[in-house]
Amino acid sequence: MRQHSWAEPYKIKAVELLKMTTQAQRDAAIREAGYNTFLLRSEDVYIDLLTDSGCGAMSDRQWAGLMRGDEAYAGSANFYRLRDTVEEYYSYKYTVPTHQGRGAENILSQLLIKDGDYVPGNMYFTTTRLHQELAGGTFVDVIIDEAHDAESEHPFKGNVDIAKLDALVDEVGADNIPYVCIATCVNMAGGQPISLVNLRAVRAWCDQHGVTLVHDMTRVAENAHFIQRREDGYRDTSIKDIVYELCALTDIATMSSKKDAMVNIGGFLAMNDADLYERACALVVVYEGLHTYGGMAGRDMEALAIGITESVNDDHIHARVGQVEYLGNKIRGAGIPIVLPIGGHAVFLDAKRMLPHIPQEQFPAQSLAAELYRISGVRSMERGIVSAGRDSVTGENHKPELELVRLTIPRRVYTQAHMDVTAEAVQQVGQTADSIRGLRFTYEPKLLRFFQARFEPV
Ligand SMILES: *Cc1c(COP(=O)(O)O)cnc(C)c1O
Repeated sequence: MRQHSWAEPYKIKAVELLKMTTQAQRDAAIREAGYNTFLLRSEDVYIDLLTDSGCGAMSDRQWAGLMRGDEAYAGSANFYRLRDTVEEYYSYKYTVPTHQGRGAENILSQLLIKDGDYVPGNMYFTTTRLHQELAGGTFVDVIIDEAHDAESEHPFKGNVDIAKLDALVDEVGADNIPYVCIATCVNMAGGQPISLVNLRAVRAWCDQHGVTLVHDMTRVAENAHFIQRREDGYRDTSIKDIVYELCALTDIATMSSKKDAMVNIGGFLAMNDADLYERACALVVVYEGLHTYGGMAGRDMEALAIGITESVNDDHIHARVGQVEYLGNKIRGAGIPIVLPIGGHAVFLDAKRMLPHIPQEQFPAQSLAAELYRISGVRSMERGIVSAGRDSVTGENHKPELELVRLTIPRRVYTQAHMDVTAEAVQQVGQTADSIRGLRFTYEPKLLRFFQARFEPV
């Protein structure tokens, strides 16, 4: 039976107790963290919406699966179960486990990118772009313009602008484009989906130019939810079938299992080409581990295989995205500007519109995330100029159009009352937004600076 509301298709069997903090404790904690929510201690956080990565709740079946871990160095039974599950649910024949998504990105980038190459994608992702650059490539954004406009309500803001692919091939030639990398439910655009019609057009473009199509499938099930809701002809197709169809249009996939698949750690690189698989196996032993575990324990591969089957359950995904929409609508109802449509894994506050008095060089989204924690104990993260980093050649700041604070909902972890508290906290910050000051760096790491940077108020 299909639920009418987004009510959860599970009940709670164990709980994790939280510490409640005082205003004075939080004032001290955020100062000590250099106004970077990544540097807070988890025990000082009440509602942790930093990320949906690795912090989901595993099911009783996944926990039971841990006991079936086969920790043999080579040929673990759990590897074969994972490989068969990936093929059954995601279509890819060969699977190379990695410690997490960026491990897969590293191997893929090293295998396919040569110095001077261009790698088009539907918006950058932090680790993905960095591995492309470290391998000698240059990322080129080919997402539709609407994705960079927080106010556009385009139903598929993850779509690719084929004209941008055409322009790139005219400029650099297909020989210098090793692959097109398409993310499903684009994280940096606000958890926005790509349509099947558009993905088929990208597939056709790749076939026409002899270019490989890579799928960053970290949030493929959430993308399938939006296709079922919004794309013509898919209303009665199951999430499982839509997920399979999305994957089957692509050649290679990188996966961070810490998101959709609801495990605490893990990832994989998957593909259909036997030669490429052999080369990936030769590299994975250098960076991750033998090709039948790649940095994962056997028990974790078992939990992952089970998590994949749960992630494509229709009731699960409707509750997951339904909870995000509930929070988004509540915040929007309070008059706070957010990215629309509400995305699949997070609500993104538009810091540019909330804090128009703070120039981008003083990190409005970073300032807003710090203040939200300070007054409420809700932890969020910056997705703006700090996350965008510097151009690897000129050293200038990338200046993204979007200056966002991400409230990311872990899967199966928080209740509706937690969402209410979060919305109230955001509303409270909104009321005193005028008094929030900008920040400046006291420490700026060279790579992926958002994780460990420190700031002080200007
Ligand atoms: C998280 C993420 C990655 C990287 O995965 P890790 O497991 O964190 O290394 C890559 N792409 C997208 C879209 C992600 O959200």
